[in-house]
Amino acid sequence: MAEADDESFALQLILPEGGKTAPCCPHGPTLLFEKVSKRGERGRRFYACSACRDRKDCNFFQWEDEKVSEARLLAREVKNQSKRPLLSQEEYHTRFTTFISLPLDEKKFCQDCQILLLPGEREAHASHRSTDVSAAQLRRPSALLRPLDNKKSNAQYLFTDRSSHFLLDTLSALGYTKLLCVGTPRLQELIKLRNLEQKHKPMKSLLLDIDFRSACPSPLCICFCKECADRVCSCDKLQPEAHTPYFYQDTCARYAQFYSQDEFCHYNMFNHHFFGGEPSSAVLQAFLTECDEEKVVMVADPPFGGLVKALANSFCLISRMWRKLQSSDGSNADMPMMWIFPYFFEPRILECLPSFSMLDYQVGYDNHPLYKHGKTGRKQSPVRLFTNISPKDIILPKEEGYRFCSVCERDVWCLNKHCAKCNVCPSKDGREWKHCSACQKCVKPSWRHCHSCGRCALPDHPCGLSQGKEGCFNCGSLQHKRKACPLKDTHRISSCPFSAKSGRSKNVSRHPLFKHKTKMRPGAACRAKKMATQSM
Ligand code: SAH
Ligand code: ZN
Ligand code: ZN
Ligand code: ZN
Ligand code: ZN
Repeated sequence: MAEADDESFALQLILPEGGKTAPCCPHGPTLLFEKVSKRGERGRRFYACSACRDRKDCNFFQWEDEKVSEARLLAREVKNQSKRPLLSQEEYHTRFTTFISLPLDEKKFCQDCQILLLPGEREAHASHRSTDVSAAQLRRPSALLRPLDNKKSNAQYLFTDRSSHFLLDTLSALGYTKLLCVGTPRLQELIKLRNLEQKHKPMKSLLLDIDFRSACPSPLCICFCKECADRVCSCDKLQPEAHTPYFYQDTCARYAQFYSQDEFCHYNMFNHHFFGGEPSSAVLQAFLTECDEEKVVMVADPPFGGLVKALANSFCLISRMWRKLQSSDGSNADMPMMWIFPYFFEPRILECLPSFSMLDYQVGYDNHPLYKHGKTGRKQSPVRLFTNISPKDIILPKEEGYRFCSVCERDVWCLNKHCAKCNVCPSKDGREWKHCSACQKCVKPSWRHCHSCGRCALPDHPCGLSQGKEGCFNCGSLQHKRKACPLKDTHRISSCPFSAKSGRSKNVSRHPLFKHKTKMRPGAACRAKKMATQSM
């Protein structure tokens, strides 16, 4: 079976280097990609949208060396301007305050447009499905809003109450008083609810989210026009000169409706872009400033198709911002962070952020059929916490099946048995792994040692093919094929907007080209590598 056909290529993300500014699409600065062919030839570089993986959501494309005409630049600027939300976060909040003061029977929510309706606006949504909204519902926007379910681009998977409370209890116990919620709307609302209950230590929170709703699927999706109270469809009928809609289906965050200026920033975590510009990034700066006993921590739960390298870069920028705001003593400390992501991204995340480690805790999701937590579970969640907080400080719930390993000095899943030979608790996927003396490491329970390949593999692996002449498509090594690559990145090319013929799995990143500002310490590099090998 061929690993990749002749047309196949990988995409490498090139991080912005000093001075060069990327062109912008409605989602902020675009990202620079480089096509790399199977033989390692580097292709022409191009800019593409950072946030949308589907061309129909954002079709921005520009070759890096392309000369763009004035006319096209102008048209682009007009488009970007027209997609900018007309309401500032302050105005959203004013609407919200007005809404709250309405009598109960006048509090209406349009389900088709996903917006709170003020009395004068109901007419325009008369043919839409609308519902009443209770005070309790207003405090749980994540239950009121329809979770995004665009599989390809960006689904919203909401934490179970159990996982949300676990995260908040854990961070609160560690003394954190301010939680920066990046793509975690549920945590933000739970903090506010817990503050109301007054049973827990009060916490502050700031939500950064793009809440991207993809392009209008039907004429039902309508944005309300401020001037003519007319129905305006966001897909084609909309003429920016004629109307000033305040909700675009794809670029206006519905979560913005429920929060004040210092509780929500419309933010893109793939390019560290604030849609509200300078005032919005000032909100983050103010939040990151620690007064008195305050301690800030970040919890991010990005879409799992997201580019690790781009995310890591944004989180580094947030950390740098935080560091600059601290008094001189901790000048080279990193901001405490938790990044929630599937376990199979471990090598990739550690490669970008060597000070992070992966915890065994399985994050549970309400609306994800596969990611529910379960002890006996065929259906265990593959989603884990990656953090630069010391693992020995994080206590995982015993009653859910976690235990303390005194050798590793961290809490691990009950099936993750310590291996005396490897001297680690080796399991990554929640199953009990077993030691292979020939490979001198622990491997997945389903693997068998294959003598012709000289390594452990699934019993039905393409035997003998692993020493192919062409080597690994991912890292170039002649020792294995891409499938067995310890640095394999599970990113697919389809996670990039230019998925023209890219339905099949192609890696976005190739290790040898990987360049990152943070230098890996020798120990960390060694550890990252070791863990990478274990995680396959
Ligand atoms: N488990 C979380 C939700 C995670 S779903 C909770 O329960 O709160 C992923 C979240 O990331 C969504 O809220 C989505 O709107 C947000 N998101 C997706 N792409 C983003 C981007 N480019 N920038 C910022 N936020 C994004
Ligand atoms: Zn875009
Ligand atoms: Zn409507
Ligand atoms: Zn072992
Ligand atoms: Zn074999």
